[in-house]
Amino acid sequence: MKAQRLHGTAAIEEHPLRLEDVPQPVPARGELLVRVLACGVCRTDLHVLEGDLAPTALPLVPGHMVVGEVVGRGAETAPDPPEGTRVGIAWLRGTCGACGHCASGRSNLCLDARFTGYHADGGYAEYAVVPTDWAYPIADELSDAEAAPLLCAGIIGYRALRLSEARPGDVLGLWGFGNSAHIVLQLARARGSEVHVFSHREEHRSLAREMGASNVGASDEAAPGSLDAAILFAPVGELVPPALRALRRGGTLACAGIHMSPIPAIDYETELFGERTLRSVTANTREDGDELLAEAARAGVRPHTTLYPLERANEALCDLKAGRIRGAAVLVP
Ligand SMILES: [Zn+2]
Ligand SMILES: [Zn+2]
Repeated sequence: MKAQRLHGTAAIEEHPLRLEDVPQPVPARGELLVRVLACGVCRTDLHVLEGDLAPTALPLVPGHMVVGEVVGRGAETAPDPPEGTRVGIAWLRGTCGACGHCASGRSNLCLDARFTGYHADGGYAEYAVVPTDWAYPIADELSDAEAAPLLCAGIIGYRALRLSEARPGDVLGLWGFGNSAHIVLQLARARGSEVHVFSHREEHRSLAREMGASNVGASDEAAPGSLDAAILFAPVGELVPPALRALRRGGTLACAGIHMSPIPAIDYETELFGERTLRSVTANTREDGDELLAEAARAGVRPHTTLYPLERANEALCDLKAGRIRGAAVLVP
């Protein structure tokens, strides 16, 4: 099969992925063999390829927003889902199930979690394998390319929205407007919320306007100061104090990124007092994934996608790094 493989980390401009002919993966006991139909491109892939998140073994096939069709299974593997079913493969593909975090319903914090396209080969290929327990059902309403971005950008956005404690009808602020944020905007609008978007890129601001944001501004523009909840998708610590100032008393700011530049000093009186909450978002649980996929289908969420052939994975990642993608980039084998 064709696969894009990483042999050594490097700046994406050097095109570290190589298109190769490799043996089709063999599903182990309890695993499904999936023919890949679409695979979303995530900023985390960029962190892996460039070595910010050093890969544990090389060569590696990245990609963890995979939509595909079940075409086989390992020995002694349950017959469900049957061959021909469309399934999704996400970043999280296993937890220890035994630690305090796993036992208390916070498996997103498990220190022995396993990730697709990191600990195991992912979806920048024609075939992939996934443990049966971690294959998500995909609603018929969504095309392959539309479903793919939901599997990481959507799931993390959903968890960030939940941790921001935004209730239906609340006024929500989003800083940064990439893949996750454009899905959260659709979820929040379907819940009757007014959404304010702040981004330093005009392409992203124009997409936010098209998608029904109530107010769109530059990232350094003053927010209305009346937000019930806010999510920071941009990995820019300088935006934390202004986002906190824009919250009403009792509001929460959730930071959705894995990386963040240093956060400047926070003024207690104007930025934190009044029971404002500042929190991070770390990975997700299997339940977050199931809930997001169900809500996205109900709410008619449709990610805005730009398609690239599998051969052009390096270019897709360069475009993502440069901020040229509106919504989601998706590779199609
Ligand atoms: Zn991701
Ligand atoms: Zn655990």
